Order: sequence, then C-alpha cells, then structure tokens
Amino acid sequence: MELPKDFEATVRKYTLQNAAQFGGKANKGAVIGKVLAESPSLKAEIKEVSAVVASVISSVNRLSVDKQVEELTKAAPELLEKKKAEKKDLPPLKNASMGHVVTRIPPEPSKYAHIGHALSFLINYMYARKYGGKCYLRFEDTNPELSKKEYADSMLEDLDYLGIKPDKTVFISSEIPMLYMHAERLIKHGSAFVCFCGVEKMRELRHEGFGCSCRQKDAKQSMDEWKEMLSGKYPPGHAVLRLMGNMQSKNHVMRDPVLFRVTFSEHHLQGRKYNAWPLYDFANSVEDGVMGITHIMRSSEFGTMRTELQDNIKTMLKLPKQTVIQYGRFNVKGAVAQGREIRKMMEDGTIKTWDDPRLVTIKALKRRGIQPETFWELAIEVGLSPSETNFDWQLIAAINRKILDPKCNRYFYVENPKEVSIKGAPKRKLELKLHPDVEGSKSRQFHAAEQFYLPEKDMAEIAKLKAGSLVRLMDCLNFKRQNGSFAFDSTEYERYRMGGSKMVHWLPAEDKELMEIRVLMPDGTISKGLAESAASEIKTGEIVQFVRFGFCRLEKKEGRVMSFIYCHN
Ligand SMILES: [Zn+2]
Repeated sequence: MELPKDFEATVRKYTLQNAAQFGGKANKGAVIGKVLAESPSLKAEIKEVSAVVASVISSVNRLSVDKQVEELTKAAPELLEKKKAEKKDLPPLKNASMGHVVTRIPPEPSKYAHIGHALSFLINYMYARKYGGKCYLRFEDTNPELSKKEYADSMLEDLDYLGIKPDKTVFISSEIPMLYMHAERLIKHGSAFVCFCGVEKMRELRHEGFGCSCRQKDAKQSMDEWKEMLSGKYPPGHAVLRLMGNMQSKNHVMRDPVLFRVTFSEHHLQGRKYNAWPLYDFANSVEDGVMGITHIMRSSEFGTMRTELQDNIKTMLKLPKQTVIQYGRFNVKGAVAQGREIRKMMEDGTIKTWDDPRLVTIKALKRRGIQPETFWELAIEVGLSPSETNFDWQLIAAINRKILDPKCNRYFYVENPKEVSIKGAPKRKLELKLHPDVEGSKSRQFHAAEQFYLPEKDMAEIAKLKAGSLVRLMDCLNFKRQNGSFAFDSTEYERYRMGGSKMVHWLPAEDKELMEIRVLMPDGTISKGLAESAASEIKTGEIVQFVRFGFCRLEKKEGRVMSFIYCHN
C-alpha cells in the first residue's frame, strides 16, 4: 500500500496544530496519533508514516508560532484553538524583547519532580517561546551522593510528557573542567582560598564573624593546595575551597562560603573522575553566565540571601547577570508533596511507587490522566504571582475535565452492585452512544428485563425516599418503591423530571458478559464493581468516563477483570 496523495498535507495540518498548541514545537508521537486516528489503515505503513512526520516536523518547528497559526488558518481553520481571543496569556516579562530571552530549567536529579517543578519548568519554557528565545535544560548534578540516573531519566520523560522541548540539554557534571577554570581565576586573584579548618570550626567562626587563618595565604600557596585537592590528596571534609567573602556581612551566606568540597563518591555519569565538586551557588552562577541566560524565574523559597552571593560570584568573574524573578511557591491543598513525608510513607510501606495516586509527582498526575494541556493552563493561571498559590485539586480537575469531557467515551459502572427486581419492567433493548455529543460515536446495546444491578450507595438513598417516590434508571425506565419492593412505573421521562426525584445508573443483571472492575482511588483504597460488557473494548491507557462516578484510566486488563485508576469526577 502506498501513502495517499494528500498525505503530506494531512500530516502538515496536524503538525501545525500540535506545534501551535505547544509553543511552536510539535511532538512526533502526538502527530502520528492524530494521523492514524484519521486513517487507521496506515498503521501497516508506520515506517513511511513516521519518516514523513519527522520531515514535516523539522520544517514546521523552524517556523515561529505566528507563522504556524497563519498557515493553519489558511490550511485547516477548523483545527485552530477555539476562543483564541479569550485565551489567557502570561503577563509580559521585564527586560525582555523578541528574540532575546534565554531561560533555563535547572532541576537537580535527586528526586521525582512534582507539580511545583512542572509549573516552574513550564513558566521558564513558555516565556522563552513567547519571546521567540531559547530554553535550556540544565541538570544540576554536582552532588554525586544525591544525583541519580533514575531521576534524570524520569525528569526527561516528564518534560516530554509536558510537551517541553529544550533547545539544549546540559549535565553540569560534564562541565567540571570549565568550572575548575573559573575557580582558578578566583584563586589567582586572591578571591578564593583552600581552608583546612573543618566543619565545626568553620561554623563557629562564621557565627562569630571572624575569618580563619587560611585566609592569610598567598595566591600561589592556595593554588598549590587546590591542585592537591583536585589530585585527591585530602580526604573528604579535610579541605574546601572558600570564597573570600565578608566575615562581617549581616548576610551569613556571604561569610566566606564554600565553593568546592572533596568527595570520593561515585557519580552516575562521571564515575570517580573528579575529587572536588562545586557547590550549588558556584556552579549555578557560572553556568547562568556562561550559557548566556537572560532571565531566571524561580520560587521565592530560594530567598534573597543567596542571590547576593551569586551576584557577587558573577561580578568577581566578570560574568553577565540575569533578570531574576521570584514567584510564590505552588501547593496542592492536602497533597503529600514534601520529600521528607514521601520518604516516610515509602519506608512504612503506605506507598510503594512514585506514581501513587496520593502523590502529586508528575508521574502520579500523568497516571491519573492529567493532560499536558492542563499543566500549561495552570502555569498561565499562576503566572509569576509573587504570593504563594494554593491550588485546590478541584481547580486542576475542572481544567482537566474540560479537556477530557469532549473526547472520553462513557460507560456504565455500578459500584458495590446490589441486585434488585423491578416488577413489571418490560423487556427492552436500549442502544446508547459511547459519547452522546460526538457525531458518529459508536453505540452499545443493553438488553434489560426485570433484574438490575444498582449501586449500593444509591440503594441506601432510595430506601430513605418516601414510599411511592419516583426513581429513574438513567436512559431506561422509572420505578417506584412500594411495600418494600420495586415496581415499574410507565411515567414518561418529562414527568419524572418535573418530579425531581432520584436518578441512578444501572446494569442489566441478565447480562452474563459484565466486566469486573477495580478502581484505585485517590486515597489508596479500591472501589469494586461491575461495568457493561462494552467496557471490554477499552484500551490500556485509555481514559473513559464512568457515568455519575468519574473519569478513570485503564491500567490493566486480565481476563474479565479490569483495573483502573480514578482521575477525578
Ligand atoms: Zn580555615
């Protein structure tokens, strides 16, 4: 089979759409997904499809977002985002002009990233895109004891999920010789010295505001001792390189801070190649200068004391300074986000994985079906607000629901099913669409008679209704509770609505093909029940809406047992 004639045009329209949605860079997987959804038969030609998509993406990604939107408006206006005019945008950035913004995403690969990191990554990325600039991903992996490949790999996956495509990726550990060079410039100028005082004495003197005697050495001696530090002559804790700061400064961070320490720990990329490793503030300052970063957007937790130190290091090394914008931190109310708390829960076995639904790691949110677009919208929502933002989970769910609702199929799920008999209910065949609002949506059939499964929770509420009250089985029939049993009521739907009684969903108990369902809930408990037989068609990873229950994502299917995770209502 050959690719259709207009295939490249089709690919191009979806590429433009995806790129315009994600700040100018299209994602190959997403584009292929759209193309195959339109023509499933092309799955057989996946190699050719993939090659065409790759070539179109490389051409489209070179265009500015404005050009992409312009072309898409001409080629396929129906794919343009709706309500574009009303769409919120990030507030303008100070000291920024088109084409001259360079930002960075600087994670330490020592943990799994959570929603706060995601929003911070996105804000830096979105600003670079907004100003037609660049955004670099920089792994701050200069702490060999904490940095792990597992975390770096996980963050790369997270960024990919979020739709972030950095213009360059750097691991600082691969730039140690360059950092040594900058340290040596300081030593030569008498601005840094090797100190042998040890942690205790250093802390004491720093507290009292006195410099140690190591300060008195000349540059030559410091340089010799530094070289010995590099060669591994001094064991960890015995020697450090310190900045000649100000021991009387009110800002204690400025009191001869440590720039390099000795550690013989194995580094996940560099192995045992280096004995001296830079501390965060030194590595950060030099890298920001050398990489040509123009804007730093970070959480106000960072504080202003360290900004003074970093500015000082840049001044001494004649490196450019950046516009620093500190925004308030983000929290999700009630969520476990503190590394300390998470570790404790891991240790006592409450949680076993980093994508546990009780966590707000990007992994957990992805698992719960939180769409990349939702993260983008949240990032705009918080923008650069200087005050702390406390997200309600409901806000995240509301944004996500707007994205899921138009595309997720509906199925009937009955939690803790109770079998009831509705006397006189006529035999009937019902045909319902998988999605009521999607044109051409497939239907599924129900064969109902007198026996039904209803959710235990609804049964309890029905029991409390006044005798004779009308209850509706959604899309099926009305019944009444009379003398402890249930009887069919031929009342029309409209009259039922006027009555304002209870609506419940259901499953036909005669159906022997019902699926057994397990849903992992946000609190770690499992909801159990039955779903209609058509649920067997749901694919792993697919998000569906269990009517009147919530959006759920299928994780596993084993025979007739399907395991979902609850997204939100
Ligand atoms: Zn000393």
